Amino acid sequence: YILLMGPPGAGKGTQAERLIEKYGIPQISTGDMFRAAVKEQTPLGLEAKKYMDNGQLVPDAVTVGIVKERLAKGDCKKGFILDGFPRTTSQAVSLDAILRDLGIKLDGVINIAVPDEELIKRTTGRQICRSCGATYHVTFKPSKVKNVCDKCGGELYQRDDDKVETVKKRLSVYAAQTKPLIDYYKNSNLYIEIDGKHIIAHKICFFRYALSSRKSFVFRKPFFATNIFPYFENTMHGKTELPQ
Ligand code: AMP
Repeated sequence: YILLMGPPGAGKGTQAERLIEKYGIPQISTGDMFRAAVKEQTPLGLEAKKYMDNGQLVPDAVTVGIVKERLAKGDCKKGFILDGFPRTTSQAVSLDAILRDLGIKLDGVINIAVPDEELIKRTTGRQICRSCGATYHVTFKPSKVKNVCDKCGGELYQRDDDKVETVKKRLSVYAAQTKPLIDYYKNSNLYIEIDGKHIIAHKICFFRYALSSRKSFVFRKPFFATNIFPYFENTMHGKTELPQ
């Protein structure tokens, strides 16, 4: 049971895809759930769209309701990756109550930290396939044929809320409402912070390492990925010393 945190564009969705492959558990992304509802024009979608289009958060009561319903489904029993929820301290308190009712304990809270300039570059160049949802980036991960998905031939589009002005708004909403959550989790022994500027391959290795070796991993204080990397190499070669 993993919670993925980080600002918009930090790579939560990408990392969640990797973790799904490894652990075979569902990704619960409130952003994806809202986008699906908007596409289908359900009452929930129409309500959520008003907030999403300005880069604001959908009200807690609505968001907590859909998460509660989703986590109660059978496929979440053996684990899940929460991506983009909680985003406020009040949502985190509600999540604690939902998990208590379900008899579930989180195994890890992973925060991906990335500087704002980098986030703006990543989000404003992001493209998504209308048919299969695969993600691309015009500079960092371009499709072979412009605006066409390599996997299924679908049309690539830019999320409405990935336009520069909306991204800036989302980042300020993140700083005001979501950053305080770091303190909520920081003092628990679940918290792992990684430096999201590092290349994706490193991030994946780090996740796998951190999550698969919890018994030997001492979480007395938050670890920062940049401190971990030199040790990480050692550990890959069979040594188990870790910084305290
Ligand atoms: P994301 O794909 O996670 O960046 O989410 C896209 C948008 O959906 C956000 O900018 C919010 O408007 C809305 N949203 C997603 N998750 C939440 C949440 N936990 N609480 C409130 N709004 C959310």
